[in-house]
This record gives sequence, structure tokens and C-alpha cells, in this order.
Amino acid sequence: MSIIKLKGVSKFYYNQKTIASGFNKINLELDMGEFVVITGESGSGKSTLLNVISGLDSYEEGEMYINGEETSHYTESDYELYRRKYIGNIFQHFNLVNSYTVYQNIELALLFNGHKKKEIRKKILDIIDLVGLNKYKNTKASKLSGGQKQRVAIARALAKDTPIIVADEPTGNLDVQSAKSIMKLLHKISKDKLVVVVTHNYEQVSEYATRKIAMHDGRIVEDKKFAEKRNVPLEEIPFKNITWPNKILLGFRNAFNVKVKFLLLFFVYFFLTSIVFSEYTNLRKLDYDQYDLGYNYYFNDTSPNRIIVNKQDRSNFTKEELANVSKLDNISKVVEDDISLDREYYLVNDDNSLEMYGNIFGSVANIGELSSVDMGRMPSNENEIVIAGPEESYYMMMYKDKIIDSVMTLHDARNDNIYPENLKICGIKFIDDKEENPYMGSQVFYISDKVFQEMRKGSNVAYSTVDITINDHVFSSKTLNPLYFRVVSNKNLNPGEAYVLQNLNQYCRDYNCTNATMNIEVKNIYYEDSIDVKVKNYTTKDNLKGLTGLKSYEDNVEKIFISEEDFDKLFEKDTYQISVFLEDTKESAKTIKSLQDMGYNTIFMREVIVNEMGEVLGVINIVRGVVFMVATVILFFISYFIIKIILKSRNIYFSTIRILGATKTQANELLNIELLIDINIAYFVFVAIVLLTKSGTVNVAYVQDVITYFKTFDYIAVYVILLIMSLLISNRYAHKLFKNSAMSTYREEA
Ligand code: ADP
Ligand code: MG
Repeated sequence: MSIIKLKGVSKFYYNQKTIASGFNKINLELDMGEFVVITGESGSGKSTLLNVISGLDSYEEGEMYINGEETSHYTESDYELYRRKYIGNIFQHFNLVNSYTVYQNIELALLFNGHKKKEIRKKILDIIDLVGLNKYKNTKASKLSGGQKQRVAIARALAKDTPIIVADEPTGNLDVQSAKSIMKLLHKISKDKLVVVVTHNYEQVSEYATRKIAMHDGRIVEDKKFAEKRNVPLEEIPFKNITWPNKILLGFRNAFNVKVKFLLLFFVYFFLTSIVFSEYTNLRKLDYDQYDLGYNYYFNDTSPNRIIVNKQDRSNFTKEELANVSKLDNISKVVEDDISLDREYYLVNDDNSLEMYGNIFGSVANIGELSSVDMGRMPSNENEIVIAGPEESYYMMMYKDKIIDSVMTLHDARNDNIYPENLKICGIKFIDDKEENPYMGSQVFYISDKVFQEMRKGSNVAYSTVDITINDHVFSSKTLNPLYFRVVSNKNLNPGEAYVLQNLNQYCRDYNCTNATMNIEVKNIYYEDSIDVKVKNYTTKDNLKGLTGLKSYEDNVEKIFISEEDFDKLFEKDTYQISVFLEDTKESAKTIKSLQDMGYNTIFMREVIVNEMGEVLGVINIVRGVVFMVATVILFFISYFIIKIILKSRNIYFSTIRILGATKTQANELLNIELLIDINIAYFVFVAIVLLTKSGTVNVAYVQDVITYFKTFDYIAVYVILLIMSLLISNRYAHKLFKNSAMSTYREEA
């Protein structure tokens, strides 16, 4: 049985409109042990016939049998298998990998047959010896002469150990002397194989040929056998697929062996990496900034750099603890008794003709923070305050011309408690609230430390539940029933004394509480305290002014008066909760960690504020996500086209390994590995620059934002994006390159 049999096989080339014939109705049987020489003038169809025989090209008509098996149903991968098992190719243009050494070129063929690198060393060296290239085994193919190159090609075909070797004008590019020795070498290796040689110089091989076939115009015009064919059995050579370690080895070899290509790819990938980093940073930055526009229902001072701190056991801070907090890094300010920061206040003058709402914001609202005012003058004593706010706001427009030099009392907007009186407004500062976030469009009162301390009592009152017990009756400030009351201080009383409201009398014996003992208990999340006082009198419309000095009975009818000393004992307390303001919000993690390590609870304002514009921002986020994706896709195509140009020179490599028997998938995998190596280098060089800048060794302004906004997750995300992009690029490239048969790939490139 012939190893190759053609029955009426024709090959046509379809060009745009014309159909050209490669060869026509060929009948041919080739056997093991033959040394077949095909001759004929140029264009007679010799190469086409060889390519069909070696499975590099398809045929259109007739039947071809391989080792008795009909091949009309063969798919691309069947031909891949056939080439690997049966065919060793030798070309006129050698088809070596120029950047590989002689050794590596031969090794390549064996690695694709699944051999282990170590096991094939001796075999390769023996073959190199056989073709007489001992001295050149570590020389790059590009440095060899034509004759030497063809020897390498023969060695490579030999290493594959295939039963068939086809050589298409192997001496076409060689001088007479080299040509002779190449033919001799081909003969030397032909003993147990089928060798098919195409040449237009028959004399060169006549002494070796066992058969001569002459072609003319696509047909066989002569077929002569000179020798009885030897009976050579067909030996099936076992082979495996290329192993992963060897794929990776080749991937690395390919990544680095052409330095110019490596550098070009590196620069493209480095550029790609930088842009993805900066795009992603932008996304992160916007994400971050958008938090700063938020506000919150529980907190009034939503300055994003504010951290609320209290102790886990809710006890008070000692002086030493406060000092230790102040010593932490990245802190611009520590506000003791920060509860006042979260209430809303109004300033009102004596005759209620001027009234203005506003806040005390810890990050800004201390007269010490103020450098200038726009109207009036800077404060000259602790009772003077400055109002700040947007110039176009309602209150500013209403009052800015009247309010300076007015004397005002500060009140809690939701709770009419005692706050500093006799505050003089000395100046006004206008703020553009778009730039100065903490103001959020409202007024801010700049006050002195002393005034802020006085507010502590008011805040404690506002946050506390006050229960009074008299004659076993308990009344709570939390519930208005059955009695609405408030505890306030009055100068006219001594410690231990109280005036109560008239309505309380009905709960006392004989409807008279005078001289009864009353317990006042204060509770809030931080402390509990109580005092016993003796009721000295109850207030009426007639006696109120005489007892307390206050004018309006209606305004004061629900009050329980105690001495200033007792009031201070109940409400003038230590510091239970503080606010720490950061210098740099982005570096929050470290400070928060230090505070928690010190055993404190922390609430970081940036993380708790909710966004009023949530929905709007949701839409903006989607738009931004889309912009990021579109940018990434555009970037992908730009990189792809540049990389395609760079890789153009490598197409010949891929067609070569495919002719050697690599499958499309394997060739694709090699490219994947190679490009992944490049992208990894680019990524890690970029990260190295980031780390060096972070440590201060170098200073690259471009990566500053990356340092600021990136967390570990973001580095991983960018890494994954880049890996995916790299894989998409190489798969796209491979898909385009390998969509055709191995030969057409080769033909396009050669
Ligand atoms: P030879 O190797 O004997 O010089 P070929 O096999 O290369 O001849 O060519 C045989 C015929 O097929 C010629 O007429 C040639 O023009 C045609 N041919 C070869 N390759 C192609 C191709 N890729 N496209 C169109 N026609 C081709
Ligand atoms: Mg030819």
C-alpha cells in the first residue's frame, strides 16, 4: 500500500475573478524508501503538488489517500495532525526562526512533539553533528550562510523523525558547492523514508534519484523509476502534545530574543498601563470627591475630614488622653465636646428684630481660623463673633447691612436652652459655598473657645433626659404628660434651693410643694447625675419677677429654677466625646487605626454621610462607567493596531511553527504567554515607580494620584483589566492570523 496516493486530484487558485489551475487531474502513488525528484519549468505546478501532498494546502477535485485513508473529510485539525505525524518540510527560503540559535531551531520541532527539554539534548547534538554544524550550534540562524541554513532546516526535518520529507527547491538559493552537499545530505538521511525533492536542476540529484517525475503545465508528463524500490516498513512514531513548561519556555524565549521588538512592545504596554491607571484613578477620584458633597440627618457638621471619637466604656477623656490624641499624625484640630457641632443655632437680639440661623462647624468655626472679614472687623475679644456665609443667601441679603455691632443671644434651634448671651457681631465673611464644602450653603458662626466652652452646658441639656421626683411622683422631660417642665438656672438662688412651677403643686400634699425635697436626675448616653434640692417657692404671675428677675411669666411658666452652681454640677461635665479633624482626608485610614488601637470608637464622617443627590449621582456614575468602558475599548483598538504592526515581523515565526506541526491553539497560547509576559513587566515597572515615589526614592508627579486614591483592590482591578486586554489583543491577532490554512499564512508572509 502506498503511503501517498492521488487519484485525479486537481488544485485551483481562486483569485478575485479568475480561476488559475495549480495542477490538473494528477494520478500518483508514492512509497516509503523512494527518493523522488520532481522537475519541470517554473509555474508547472511542482510547489502546489508538494503543498497538497504535505497537507499545507487543500485540493478541489479527486481523492487523496494517506496510508490508505481517504482525506476528503479531513478538517484543518486532521491536517495539523497529519503534518505532525508524517511530514518534514524543507523550503527554498529555509523558514528558520532567525532569532533562534541552530540548537533552538531544531529543539523547537521536538518540543512541539511533546518531548521534554532534557531528554532531547543528546539527540539534537547528534543531529547537528550529522549535518556538520557542530561549530555553529549556538549561533543564531540569521548569522549563517545559505548552505548552513539549509542544513539546519534538514536537521530540523530530521529531528521530527517523520516518515516523509518534502523539499521544495532546497538548493534554489545556494551556490553549486553547497547545493551538492545538501543533496548528498538529503540522500544520506533518506534511507528509511520517503523523500520528495523538487528541483529544476535534475543533474544535481540524478545520482540519488530512484524516480523522476517531470511536470508541465499542471500535469505529469514523465514518471520514471530507476531502482527497485526497497521495502521499508512505515513506523508509527509516537508523539505527545507540547507540554506547558515548554510552552512557557518558548513564550519567554520569544518575549526576549528580539530586543527591539521587546522594547517596542514594552513601551506600548507601558503606555497602555499608564493610561488605564490614570483612567481608573479618575474614576476613583470622582468617586471620592462625590462623598464630600454628602450630608447627614444625624450630624450637622458633615465636614468629610471629621472623625467623631469616644471611649468604648463611654467614660470621660482624661487630660492625658486628650493630649495623646492631639499628638497623632495628620490631625489639624481636636474639638472637645463636639456635640455642639451637630446642632443648629440661631442668633437673636433682644427685641427679636434680628434673627439668623447657622451652625458651629468644627473644622472652620473658630475665630482663630479666620484671617480676614469682608464687612466689619475682626474680633477683638472673646465675646465677639463673625458670621460667614454665601453672599447671596437669604439671611445675608436681609441682614448684612444691619447686623454688625448688634448684641445677640445664641439659641439652640430645636431646643430653647441656655446659651451664651451678649455676643456682639463684629464682622461678616462671605464664602463661595461651592468651594468651601463644610458650609453647605448655610451661615456659620465663628466663635471663640470661651464661647464654645459655655455652649457645653447647653448641649448637655439638649442631649439629656431630666427626671424629677417629688413626693414619689416622677416626671420626665422626655414625656410632656402629665407635666411639661424644664430645668434652668437662676442667679437669685443658692445651692440646694429651687423654685418650681405652680402646676407641680397639685402633686404635693395640701397642693403645696413648698419645702418638699425634689430629686433632679440627669441621664444621657455618657453620664448620669442627680441632686436633691429643697423647693423654696413656686412661681406665679405675680411673684415671678420678684423671685427670678425675669419679666415675662408666659415665657417662663414651665420652668424649674435651680442655682447656677447646681446647674453647673448637673451639666458642666467633662469631655465624653470629641471630634478629630484630619489634615488630609485621604490618609484617614492610618489615623482611624491609631485611634482604634488606643481603644476608641470612631465614626468617620466621610463614610456615614448619605448623599442627597444619590439618584442623580447614580446616573452620573453609570455615565462615568460607560465613559471608562468606551475609553478602554478605544485604547484596546489603538494598542491592538500598534501591536499588530510590531508583531507583523513575527508572522513568519507563527507560520513556521505551524508548518512544524503546532496547532492553531498552541500557536495562540505561545502568543498569549509572550504578550502576558510583556504586560506583566509593564505593569510591575509601573507599580515599582508608584512604590518608589511613595517611599520618596524618586518623584514622579504622574503617579501621585494613584498613590492617593488606590487601595490594594484597585491595583488588582487594574491588573486584571490589563491581563484581559492583553489576552484579547493576542487572541484577536491570532484569530486574524490563523484563520486561513498554514500555507496561506505562510504565503502571505513569505
Ligand atoms: P512551480 O512551483 O512549479 O513553479 P507553482 O506550483 O508555484 O509552480 O504554480 C503553479 C500554478 O499555480 C502557476 O500557474 C501559478 O501561477 C499558480 N499559482 C501558484 N500559487 C498561486 C496562488 N497563491 N494564487 C494563484 N495562483 C497561484
Ligand atoms: Mg515552486
